[in-house]
Amino acid sequence: MSTYLHGTSQINDKGHLTIGGCDLTDLAKEYGTPLYIVDEAFVRQRAREFVEAFRATGLKFQVAYASKAFSVMAMCAIAEQENLSLDVVSDGELYTALQAGFPVERIHFHGNNKTPEEINMAIDAGIGCFVVDNFVEMSLLNALAADKGKTVNVLLRITPGVEAHTHDFISTGQQDSKFGFDLGNGTAFRAIEETLKLGNLNLLGVHSHIGSQIFEVDGFGMAVDKVAKFAVKVRDELGKTFSVINVGGGFGIRYVEGDSPLPLSTYVNAIADAIISNFTAANYPTPEIWIEPGRSMVGDAGTTLYTIGTHKEIPGVRKYIAVDGGMTDNPRPALYGSKYEAVLANRANAANEETVTVAGKACESGDMLIWDLELPKSESGDLLAVFCTGAYNYAMASNYNRIRRPAVVFVKDGEASLVVKRETLEDIVVNDVIPQRLRKASV
Ligand SMILES: *Cc1c(COP(=O)(O)O)cnc(C)c1O
Repeated sequence: MSTYLHGTSQINDKGHLTIGGCDLTDLAKEYGTPLYIVDEAFVRQRAREFVEAFRATGLKFQVAYASKAFSVMAMCAIAEQENLSLDVVSDGELYTALQAGFPVERIHFHGNNKTPEEINMAIDAGIGCFVVDNFVEMSLLNALAADKGKTVNVLLRITPGVEAHTHDFISTGQQDSKFGFDLGNGTAFRAIEETLKLGNLNLLGVHSHIGSQIFEVDGFGMAVDKVAKFAVKVRDELGKTFSVINVGGGFGIRYVEGDSPLPLSTYVNAIADAIISNFTAANYPTPEIWIEPGRSMVGDAGTTLYTIGTHKEIPGVRKYIAVDGGMTDNPRPALYGSKYEAVLANRANAANEETVTVAGKACESGDMLIWDLELPKSESGDLLAVFCTGAYNYAMASNYNRIRRPAVVFVKDGEASLVVKRETLEDIVVNDVIPQRLRKASV
């Protein structure tokens, strides 16, 4: 038996995969496929691991869920219940959070090109903090806040010159990134000076985000060292003390065998230790620590359930099996070459017998979900469960080929709750307009 069981997933006495106590064959019947299934208890467990690890440090903190990983109203509700803050990067994500009633003072707005409309919407809503990315945004934000007679909290996003590549870190003097103010070349210092001159911005501190799917703590330690030195320089030369240091997200998860994530508390403790030692040594009041996990909050709590349809065998070359979704619900393999594991959900105990490549149904040769997957012999109608699809799947889904986006269900304690409806054919044309001159002449 090779099924990778994680979170609340189990195999029941029928040999069916269950998640949150729900039999996936029943979910397929009730909601259809493809279907995104989120293990709610697992998401909450992740949130609590972060929060409890921080509580144990005795420091002030915020754990901000990076909602871009999976932004739906029900997820905002869970984030609120688990005492998380929330990062948004567009008016759409902000709207989702507001519609879910998420506490506005715990919303942080990110992005390298926030539009005036987005900034106005966020100021009017009264969000907790803007993470300012560049000089254009800085003066625009100040002007728009001034128009409304308001002062807004800001962090400045800096690029600390630490790049994380999952397993190794490069400390570079200069970082080529579209995001943030460069630390190494003095831009970040100049940005602080500018911010302090602007009357409608209240500078809380700085933000850095060093990468994604990171499996080591060293990069976070390096980034904190650099940020702390910078904070001391700003205090000594400009007389400004930071009250917040935000070290971003990027904590890695296990997608496939060989991925070796650390316990979440290990990341938290390493970050807290680096903050405490650097700031204590400089006789600097220990700032609040903010982090921004996205993938590690929801990634491995998500599973996508597909129905297998056709297959094509090219003797001596490869056997393709096709599912009823693909790059439209999970573009990550096509975008990044991302790897996934999968099992037959309706025969989860069956022994693997063949190597197949799982193809999607879109008109695009690159629409492959998994290359060289070991599976039992499968037939049309079997259910394929692809693991670890909770982050950057629904969030990145498209209507390419006018394929409808799947439904999302949360499962917990044997109960399934619909949190996003499957798109209908009417949804597909809802924004289409036929101009009068193209209409058939009425008889
Ligand atoms: C994407 C992103 C995150 C979340 O990254 P994960 O790898 O999903 O944890 C956090 N902060 C910022 C600024 C980001 O761009």
